[in-house]
Amino acid sequence: MKTVIMGAGAMGSLFGGLLAFSGEEVCLVDVRKEQVDVIRSVGLTMEEGEKLQIIGVNATQDIASLGQADLVIFFVKTYQTEQAVSDALVLEKEDTIFLTLQNGLGNEEVLCQKIDPKKVLLGVTGQGATLVGPGHIRHAGWGKTYIGEVDHQMTDRAQRVAEMFRNADIDTDVSANIHGLIWEKLLANAGINALTALTGLKNGQLLDHPETLRLMEGLVSEAAEVARRKGIEIEGDPIEKVKTVAEATRGNRSSMGQDFDFQRRTEIDAINGAVVREAERLGIPVPFNRIVTDLVKVIEKPFWASVRSDPF
Ligand code: NAD
Repeated sequence: MKTVIMGAGAMGSLFGGLLAFSGEEVCLVDVRKEQVDVIRSVGLTMEEGEKLQIIGVNATQDIASLGQADLVIFFVKTYQTEQAVSDALVLEKEDTIFLTLQNGLGNEEVLCQKIDPKKVLLGVTGQGATLVGPGHIRHAGWGKTYIGEVDHQMTDRAQRVAEMFRNADIDTDVSANIHGLIWEKLLANAGINALTALTGLKNGQLLDHPETLRLMEGLVSEAAEVARRKGIEIEGDPIEKVKTVAEATRGNRSSMGQDFDFQRRTEIDAINGAVVREAERLGIPVPFNRIVTDLVKVIEKPFWASVRSDPF
């Protein structure tokens, strides 16, 4: 499959690097010149624990030069999706698959506004990566990746993508309940990310204070109620699950925490903000999610000008 990845940041580079290393034809697209230049001239540097390897991957800023693609994967931040989808339309042919593996809610809707929903695949990934410098990432998480059709059918094309990922050492299954899995990840992000950003705490430290624990429980139970009212199938006790995630990632700063640390715009609109939007449609009050969304949005406003300001 000729694969194009929109976004050569932490996750696009991770998937692009692993796919290229497994022999797949893949090209990374990014709007940032320095990122593309380093990948083209030096290769992609990938740290995994003590291991450091340099992988040759194609990268470009000039998407129009790529021709058509079999698979397009979106790994831009959620607030960059609309532009990236518009840009990616030049890659489209009759059977192109457009896959989003981004966090949060709303990516499906943005893709389906410009792309025939029949061409869209959804996904969620437990893989994790950090951008250390231009063309240099640290592979930080090895969780499972799930992909699935918008209409929850099990299709050959989803199986083919999953198999390509597995061949690249990306543990992947096809799910017949991809919306449930997207919401499960959303619940964890909704319960942890904004709270760590606002308090400066690490994920696990949220469990050490009765105040943050109470806030976490409020955020998650509201979001779970919205999911339930939307008919989303979620297994197990959402609050216990989020606590387990916070404990398992005790020493980490969440992505939103890091965004605040480096004064970057956050993905709040796709996480707690999305819970608020969905709740409004259903007429359910979600005061915990409303308050953290408003607080994060006020604090991040000055960061909007610098869409990306990395520590390098
Ligand atoms: P990132 O900021 O490191 O990378 C995004 C890249 O997209 C940037 O390099 C940016 O320049 C580029 N970009 C922006 N607009 C573009 C456009 N129109 N065309 C091409 N490139 C464009 O972000 P990330 O950490 O890789 O996260 C990407 C998505 O994956 C987010 O939704 C995030 O929540 C999700 N995610 C991240 C992780 C993680 O561990 N980092 C894990 C799971 C999911």
